[in-house]
Formats: sequence, C-alpha cells, structure tokens
Amino acid sequence: MELQFKKIDSNIHKFRWTGHPFVDAGLTGILLYCKKQCLEELTDDDIDNAIEFVSKLYSTDGWVKYIHGKVFPNSGLLMANPSMKKNRTPENIANRLKELYYNHINKKGDITCSICGKKVNMVDMDIYRSVFPLLGSGDTANFFHSGRVKGETICADCLFLVQFMPIVSYSVGGRSLIIHTYPYEKNLNLLEEPLDFVIESKIVSDAKKFKRPINFLFHKICELARKVESNDKYWKNIEITAYYFKCGNRSGEQLIDIFNIPNPIIKFIAFAGQNDPGGWKNVVNRGWIRKKNNTEDEEFEKLEKIHENIVYKKLLNDEPILNYFYDKKKKDVIASWSLVNHYCSEVLGLDKDTLEFIKDVGDRIVETLDALEDGKLKRVLRELENADRLYKLAHFFRKVEKIRQKQAIPTPLMSFDEFAKLLLGYGEDIDTSWRVVRDLLLFRIYEKLHNRLVNTEIEAVDNEENEDNEYNDLYAGDDE
Ligand SMILES: [Zn+2]
Repeated sequence: MELQFKKIDSNIHKFRWTGHPFVDAGLTGILLYCKKQCLEELTDDDIDNAIEFVSKLYSTDGWVKYIHGKVFPNSGLLMANPSMKKNRTPENIANRLKELYYNHINKKGDITCSICGKKVNMVDMDIYRSVFPLLGSGDTANFFHSGRVKGETICADCLFLVQFMPIVSYSVGGRSLIIHTYPYEKNLNLLEEPLDFVIESKIVSDAKKFKRPINFLFHKICELARKVESNDKYWKNIEITAYYFKCGNRSGEQLIDIFNIPNPIIKFIAFAGQNDPGGWKNVVNRGWIRKKNNTEDEEFEKLEKIHENIVYKKLLNDEPILNYFYDKKKKDVIASWSLVNHYCSEVLGLDKDTLEFIKDVGDRIVETLDALEDGKLKRVLRELENADRLYKLAHFFRKVEKIRQKQAIPTPLMSFDEFAKLLLGYGEDIDTSWRVVRDLLLFRIYEKLHNRLVNTEIEAVDNEENEDNEYNDLYAGDDE
C-alpha cells in the first residue's frame, strides 16, 4: 500500500554537493534521472519520480543481489536483507525512502553530520554499513568516534542520497565502481552513461565488459575527449577519483581501492584521444602485462578489457613513460612529436623553451650522425641507447662532439653552459631527470633517421647479433 506524505516546500529544502563520493553519486543519479542541471531545480515531484524508479529496480532479484552482495549488505532500508523477501515490493521500498525524505531530512539540531557537516537532528535508526558503505557492522558499535550507540552520525539527507548511488555505479569485473569528479557538476557528464544503461536495460552497467577499473577510466576519458569540442575548456581543473569495491560482502568486510587521476594526466589523455588516438594506442599497446608475449596479433580493444597495463600504472604512479613513445628494436617512433611534446609539458612539467632546446640539440646530433657511414652510425647511436647512467650520456655527447670536429663542422654540438644544463640541470628528479633528455633525444633521432637505421640494422645484424639480445626484455620498452 502506498503511504501519503505531506510535501515539503522545495524552497526550504535544497540538497547540496558534499564532496563525499557516494553521497554525491546518489545526488548525481537523481539529477540525471530528473534531467535537472542544478540542485535548485529539484522539486518534490522529481524526488517522487526518482524514488519510484529505483524502488521498481531495487525490488527485482538482480538488483537485490547487487545491493546486498556488493554495496549495502542486509539493507533494511532498501529491503535487500534476504529475510525481507516476502514483503519486498516496489511500494514498500518507496514508502521507506519517502518516509526518510518527507519526515526526516532537513531537521536542524545540534549533532554534526560526519559527511556533509550540517548541524542536524539525527534520525533514530541504526547507521551501519547496511545503509552506508564502508561503515562497520552492528558488532562494532563502539568503533564510531562519535560514540553514537547506533552507529555513525550521518544525517537523513546524506543517508537518503546515498541510496541512489547504485544506479550510477558500474560493475567492473563483478565489483562495484563509483566515479567522482571535482568540480562536482562534472559528475553529471561522467555518470550519464551508467544511468542511461540502467534506464534502458534495467541492470547495472557492465562498463562495456571491462575487467579493470583503470583501463576503463582511461578509455572513458579518451572517448569523452573525442566528443567534446574544446578539450582545454572542458577538462580545465577536473580531477577524477574512482572508488573500486575490492571484495564482495561475503568476506565480512568492505575494502576499496582508490584511483586518483590528477588534472595534468586527464588533460594529456584527453589531448591524445582527440589529436593522436592512433599514436596513443601504439604507446599503450607496448605496456600490456600478460603471461604470453604475443600481444601483437590481438586487437587493442580486446586487450584493454582484460589486461593490466604498465603505461597506465606508471602514469598513475607519477613515473615517466617517455621510453614507450619509441621502439628501440625497430628504431622508430610510434606517436607524433606533438603528443610527446604535450606529455612533457602537461605531465612532466617541462617548459616550452627547454623542450625546444632539447629538440634543437637532437637535430644537431642528427646532423652529425647523418654524415657517418652506416655501420658507424649504428655503433655511435648505440651508446645513447645504452646510456643507463649519467656518465654514459656525457660520454655520448663527447663522442658526437669529436665527430663534429673531425667532420670540420664549424659550430660545436653544445656550448659549455648548454652541456651543463642538459646533464646536470635535471639531476635525478623523477619527472625531469637526464633520462627524459635521453629519451627525447632518442625519439628525435629515430624520427629523423629511421629509414637509414632500419637498413643499417639489416647489414650489421650478423656480427652484432649478441649485443641485440640485451634488448629482448620481458616487457618491451620497460628498460628503466
Ligand atoms: Zn549529511
């Protein structure tokens, strides 16, 4: 039976963004379902519609399994507790949600909500993980720092909103994934897809069958970037954080992984997705981690759904990925200079002048090496390829300088100041170490001399076969 509730004057009550990923996800779900862009536009009728929508879903077996098994174990509020099966109907679930909304939200008091910080009068109910994820269970009542005997101090607003979180969640590899963005309004863009999926198919979005949350996030950013007109404006100052529920509720505890994608990486991925998607695919393609090393015959779209990727991992760990932009074995570059350029300036934070300077030194090295005979060209270049210590890089520069003198090229490779800047200026700083300089130089040289270098390799392969073996790393490109 449907209960009747007195409508609240919607001018009195306004929801607001809290910064809490799960509560904000629920709010996003309501806004998207009601096709409202801002919070002030939400009316009681909107809320009623959203409640009716989720109540119908949540009363079906599939959703009960998802809610009970992945998000809110034994939820009484959403009637996912197995003991409530008999009385579980859309009307009964709706009545519970409406009761919370119409009778309890926005009740001012002197207790501080631990989620939104509002001073409220607490609703008299148990607040454990059956109604809000990641809280303790009723067995650990004294665990809550508030000292509240019935669990955490969470206001009715936050409690109500979080019940809508499942409709904008993804099921990735069978576990729940929640995406949260800053600025919060951007949640409306990023969470549109899972809700559309739910509205159409009445089941939780399977994230296009991706099994790994990180791969899915990178895929999603690339995909969105292709749809928007001006990437710079769209992605300005956005941060994305994803929350991935690591285990189901059966293990007795809830654990999550948190992935934060900072703005420079988002902007770089978006740039790649819009300007050089092919090049970026090539770069990522070199990073698949898998037992059998036969990635080349499988499609990117298939690989990205299943396998871990070292390029993604390094990006999120703040480690440089420059050496994935070229292929040392094939002596070739696999992405555009503009993509490398964007990576260096956006992610590594190199300034424009420095990049131009390194590119210029690269061109001077190309000028010098291009005059050498084939066999020697390869031998000299190998010194740069093998420069895994700073002194080896210095040695390579000295060698090129000597060649220039022999060739009677009037200008030196570098002035003393430039030499000092390249070798010492960047030190061992993880982002802009001398290794970045080395990788950029190699990129430039392969870009310019690729045709000569591949032909040279064919001629010299017989007597230098043994030296080549050292490049047969387990994971091509991961040579740091
Ligand atoms: Zn609250």
